[in-house]
Parts: sequence; C-alpha cells; structure tokens
Amino acid sequence: MRTSQELSALLDRLDGRGYPAYRDLAGSWQLPLPGASRAIAELMVDRVQPDPFAAPSRLRLRLPLEVTGLPRWAVQSPLRRIATGDYLARRFQEAIRTQHRGRTEGSGRSGAIDIDAGGAEILDRTALRVTEDVVEVRFTAGLPAQGRRILGTAARQLLLERIPRIAAESLLPGAWNPRDLQAHIVAAEDHAWLQAELPRLGLVAFVADGAILPRESGVSERPLRGAIPWQSPSELAVEVNLPGAGRVRGTGIPEGVTLIVGGGYHGKSTLLRALVRGVYPHIPGDGREQVVTRDDAWKLRAEDGRRVVGVDISPFISRLPGGTDTTRFNTEAASGSTSMAANLVEALEAGCRLLLVDEDTAASNFLVRDARMQALVPKAIEPITPLIDQVRPLYRDLGVSTIMVVGGAGDYLDVADHVILMEHYRPRVVTERARQVAAQLPSRRQPEAPEPLRLPTPRWIDPASVDPYRGGRQKVKATDLDELVVGWERVDLSAVEGLVDPSQTRAIGAAILYALKQGLFERLPLPDALAEALKVADTGGLERWVRGEPVGNLARPRLLELSAALCRLRTLAVRPGPEHPRPNDNNPKGRRPGS
Ligand code: ADP
Ligand code: MG
Repeated sequence: MRTSQELSALLDRLDGRGYPAYRDLAGSWQLPLPGASRAIAELMVDRVQPDPFAAPSRLRLRLPLEVTGLPRWAVQSPLRRIATGDYLARRFQEAIRTQHRGRTEGSGRSGAIDIDAGGAEILDRTALRVTEDVVEVRFTAGLPAQGRRILGTAARQLLLERIPRIAAESLLPGAWNPRDLQAHIVAAEDHAWLQAELPRLGLVAFVADGAILPRESGVSERPLRGAIPWQSPSELAVEVNLPGAGRVRGTGIPEGVTLIVGGGYHGKSTLLRALVRGVYPHIPGDGREQVVTRDDAWKLRAEDGRRVVGVDISPFISRLPGGTDTTRFNTEAASGSTSMAANLVEALEAGCRLLLVDEDTAASNFLVRDARMQALVPKAIEPITPLIDQVRPLYRDLGVSTIMVVGGAGDYLDVADHVILMEHYRPRVVTERARQVAAQLPSRRQPEAPEPLRLPTPRWIDPASVDPYRGGRQKVKATDLDELVVGWERVDLSAVEGLVDPSQTRAIGAAILYALKQGLFERLPLPDALAEALKVADTGGLERWVRGEPVGNLARPRLLELSAALCRLRTLAVRPGPEHPRPNDNNPKGRRPGS
C-alpha cells in the first residue's frame, strides 16, 4: 500500500499529461480521513477509465470495522450484514449528494462520484460489503480532465479531499445514526422472519395495518403522500409478533384462491403490485416494510410475442390448429393465452407456488370462457382450458395458491375461497356475499373438468444455444432494468415484474455467464443449474459470478427472475435430459417407456 503523500506526488506529476497516464493510479493507497479519529482508509483503484467519456473508474474504500464504530449486533448475521451494507451505501450516496454542489468541471464525467445504493428494496448487493472486520465501499468516479489532458489539481481534490470527506460523513461514528441503522435491520429481519413464518400460519401474504401501498407516480417508488393507510378487515385480521416491531395487526391472505374485486380505480392493482414487491424487504419510510409475500410468488401476465421453447402447456392448451404439440410447445411469437400458459408453467418449473394475477394484464380467454362462449364454440375446437377450471386443481394438486384481481370476470366467484372488495382504497371481506351472488346468478358455465395436475418436468437447456459472444468478444450486459443483452440477442424482460433493480438484471447476465462457464447446464436441468449458481453466490458473494472481481453494481435476483430471463432468450434451445432417451423412429417424442 502506497502512502497518500505518494498519491499526491503522483497526481502532481500527472497534471497536464495525456489521459492514459491515469493508469498509474491503479493499485492501493493509504487515505487519511478527516476528523478527530485520524482514521486511515485504504483506497483501491481497481479499474482506470481509458478516457474521460468512458465508463467511470472503479474504486473501493476499505475501513476496519472498529473505525466505523459499528456495533457487533449490526454485523452478526448474513442478513444483518446485508441490511447494514444497504444502510451505509445509502448514507454514502447522501454524502456524495451533499458534497457535490454542482461540481462537474472538466470534460466527460470528470469529478462525478456514484454508488449503486438501490431503490425502495433492501437487496443483497455488492455496492457496500460489510464483514465482521471491515467495511468496503465500492463506487465509481470520473477522473478529471480538460479535453483529454489530466487535471491534476481537480484529481487531487477528488481523491484526497472529496472522497475522504464523503467517507467520513457517511461511515465514521456520528455520521451514521444508530437508530436508523437499527430500523433498517429490523425492516429486513422482520420481513425475513414473517416470510419464513407465512407457511406455518397458512398464509401467502401479509399486509400490516397502516401500510402505505400506492406510489407517488407511475415512475416513482416513493410513497404517495396523503394516501389512505391499509386497515385490515376484521375477517382476515391476524396478529403477528415480529421479532423487531413486536405485535402487529394486519391482513393475512390465506392459502388457496383469493379474489380482489371492486370498482375501477379503487386500489385493486395497487394492492397486487405491493404484493409483487412484498417478496423483498423495504427500507424504513417506504410504507411497505410490513407487506410480506411468500418468496416464491410470481406475477403471471400475458406477454404476446414472446418466444417459447419446449414448454408443456398441455394442462391449459391442447389441440392447437395444425396438430401442434403442446406438451413441448414451441413458438416464435406466442399469443396472449399461449404466453400466459407458458409463463405459468415456466414459473412452476422455477419453483413458484403463489400466482399473482391482474385481469388488467391477463389474456381474458385464458382466464375464463363464459357459458355463452361455451355454447357457441364447442369444446372440441377450443384449445384452451381456462385458468378458472385449473385454479382449484393448482391448489389442490400442487399447493399453488392464487391471488387475482378481478374487475369483470364474475364467474371466478365460483372458485374463490376468499373475496376482498376494495372500496375507496379500503378493503372489505365480501366472501359470504359473493357466495350468495354466485348462487342467485349461476354462471351456467360447464366446468371443463381437467385431469389432475402435475408439476412440469424440468427442462434441460442446450448450453450451446446461449452464445455470449458478439463478433469474437464476450458481450453480456444489462442496458436497463428491462433489457439484457446476450451476445447478439436482446432479451426483453418488461413482462418480468419481479425484477425491481437494474443491478439484478446485471447480476442475471453474470449468473448466466457463470453457469455456462461452470458447465452447470450440462450437468443439471434448468432450475437446478440456476439454484446451484445462486447457492454459490449466497455463500461466496455475488462476485463469484464475475470471477471474484470486486464490482459494486450487482444485486441478487431470485431464481424465478433468473429463469425467466433465460427463457426469454430467443436462441434458447432445450435438449433431452439424461433420463430421457433421445427421440428415435420407435419413440418420436423421446418419451420414457411407460409414460
Ligand atoms: P384499480 O386497479 O382498482 O383500478 P388502482 O390500484 O390502479 O385501481 O388505483 C387507482 C389510483 O388510486 C392510483 O392512482 C393509485 O395510486 C391510487 N391509490 C391506490 N391506493 C390508494 C390509497 N390507499 N390511497 C390513495 N390513493 C390510492
Ligand atoms: Mg387495475
């Protein structure tokens, strides 16, 4: 480790030279932090940008835990370390903002400091790593230049003054607030505790009284000010005893089939959206800290135009025109209904046991065929067994619950265990009333009695069909929350609503590369290969997906989203797994003997 005097001297020498000379910064430096503590941090320059307009340089700052004054309890478990890291990353980001004061002199990204501190959710992310001994912040900085000439003075200010001040104002004792830190940890721990507890309570989700569900706008995750807080109807009210917050009353949504009904604009989709995000913990002040959903929930929606390969959608769709095989369904452009069937089966394959459906984003012919349509279009020529006839078997045979927003498809009253009516953003339980209505106004539709359901057999993918190369160079990157580039392919993830952070999308790209390099798809079927990649990241850090490089911009995705991304890659091919004989003339479909 070189001294800060050496760093200062180097910056003097670099002043006025061509930008590439910044390369000499690479390595590790002592960096005294301002303040009474006289703490010395280690500054690591991991990657120096090639020019002022390129992606900014990657830096790390490492401090011994004692220097930060963090108490032992804050680092005692993996989850606490995640929550503490999340909290400190946000403090660091705030310090960047208060320090910034419009200072971006120079060309390109000169002087810009940034950290990937995350949004409304608390995720396992690499931006700030906390261990039992050290705190390590990973951030980026644009090394200052005028044109392509190094600005030595500005660089000295950046590295020897601004960065140390930002670190001191976020990581040293007095800079962070023990009560806020504790609240952050409690939010993460209570969420995890309740999520683990839900199955024992026979619940799939919990919404605490007082929760604020609506957001400020369609493009913001900040809570809506002046919103009506959640108030549980007594019929579904439960009290839980959270380890941090203590006794909390709220709505427990039971396993089975639950409908959310109500007039337009009365808060139905807002509730469902909060449940989609409830698989993750939320930061204090978000309003959804005590909205908790089973972690295997999946927002099921229509996605026409998507590609599908080798999915057994036969429980929902069979006898397609032209004799298309729906036990291994392939299409370059699915319809609304076939995309929903494929999305559902793929979600089950990836472990989903709770479906979240909103009529607004579903294909209506996949949801229900009413009595009139049944009379007009004979079953013999209708390929679809609608969800209304499978939603109970899904629960009975597979233990898969459903929460569904219904505005128009009243036939669903016949299959619901519970009905919640949203009225002026206030929930009421109307299950009894719904039963009466269903009895008084029978739907007259014939249940299209299907066979018992089975979980799909996991597919094996052909690793050669996932090509990360573009013109000889490996190119896998997230361009956005909703888009992953893999080689020449652009993977559209806009229908994958459980993805909440672009750093998750980036991590998915890294995970796919990792799984390919490790030969996981050769050894294991798709969900098991991805579970293996996740296990490695959960024990060794997400950096394991990038050969241990200390990057600061990854956040943990769930297996469901990992799988969903791969399934949307347009080149993906499946192959027969080892336990399936290869297809041959006697066995054109490669079925196992006896099946
Ligand atoms: P629906 O799906 O029933 O048609 P939405 O859930 O889309 O209705 O909600 C309609 C509008 O009401 C949205 O702008 C939403 O932000 C707002 N909203 C939802 N819940 C609340 C609430 N609890 N308090 C205030 N406004 C709310
Ligand atoms: Mg709606």
